[in-house]
Amino acid sequence: MNDVRTIVQKLCDGADITRDEIIFLLNNRDKDTADLLAEKASAVSKGIYGNKVYIRGLIEFTNYCKNDCYYCGIRYSNKNASRYRLSEEEITGCASCGYDLGFRTIVLQGGEDPFFTDEKIIRIVREIKREHPDVAVTLSIGEKSHESYKAFYDAGVDRYLLRHETADHSHYAKLHPSSLSAANRQRCLRDLKEIGYQTGAGFMVGSPYQTYENIADDLLFLRDLDPAMIGIGPFIPHKDTPFADRPQGSLELTLFLLSMIRLMIPEVLLPATTALGTIDPRGRELGILAGANVVMPNLSPVGVRKKYALYDNKICTGEEAAECMNCLAGRLRNIGYEIAVDRGDNIKYKKT
Ligand code: SAH
Repeated sequence: MNDVRTIVQKLCDGADITRDEIIFLLNNRDKDTADLLAEKASAVSKGIYGNKVYIRGLIEFTNYCKNDCYYCGIRYSNKNASRYRLSEEEITGCASCGYDLGFRTIVLQGGEDPFFTDEKIIRIVREIKREHPDVAVTLSIGEKSHESYKAFYDAGVDRYLLRHETADHSHYAKLHPSSLSAANRQRCLRDLKEIGYQTGAGFMVGSPYQTYENIADDLLFLRDLDPAMIGIGPFIPHKDTPFADRPQGSLELTLFLLSMIRLMIPEVLLPATTALGTIDPRGRELGILAGANVVMPNLSPVGVRKKYALYDNKICTGEEAAECMNCLAGRLRNIGYEIAVDRGDNIKYKKT
């Protein structure tokens, strides 16, 4: 029978819950349920990964993008965006700064920028790997062919982040122009997993037109895909997009979903995202306390940080990476956690 307590119990026992149960739980959740799930989820996370929080150094290397996603501030049609590209030397320099600060995972993220051909990406990755062989390199540069993904992997890329955005094809079509499809997005994720990447998927919480049915489908899609990492964060409007006037996603629902995901897919690497830190000053700490175990500080040069504006009011755009690290370490210490200095592989997907 559908009652909140039974469903919560199933989640805590690691039993599979159904689409109807997820929808029922979302409709009938309250503060006590959220607190209980957060407690269980953070205990599960601690049981697997201890009180360590993994860090990933994010280098936002280009904000040029050929796509026109309706929610994103660096979409092609945003003529107000001030565009930049980091040089190959700047990118490898940022990676080295990150290395010196203790990062053992470097994430190269950008818009879909044809200037950065596969050849250039491979050259950059090889250089980072040559200088720092113990670093895990992650790419987050959107939809590519199987062939490109394979070439990146063969060049030494370890991980790839590509949020599925929404599993529902018609919801996907409301967030993207017709040149983009849920089918191709999901094809990319299957290719990435098949090639051998530690793959990250995920979605925005509270994106325009999103329903609890959509969220249930997202959670089931993720359970089925079983990615190494899941990135979820609240949708936050950007003033120069078609969704400028839409409400932002809720802190409370994002935290609730972090806990659900931790319980449904216990080993998953789960970031407390910058978007979560943007909608609430303690968002990232609350994310960790709800079951997240990763944070992704910014390693981009301070001069370009404000320009990588996917949404308005993004945090940490004014400080140097070293300051961000001190701030973060203090915040984590205050809630009983510490920064881990290893690569932070998903225990299930660790390469031997
Ligand atoms: N071009 C890459 C990287 C995208 S940016 C790619 O296609 O994967 C990373 C993520 O930021 C996106 O996947 C999206 O889920 C999120 N994002 C974009 N705009 C946002 C907004 N307005 N609010 C919150 N998250 C947003």
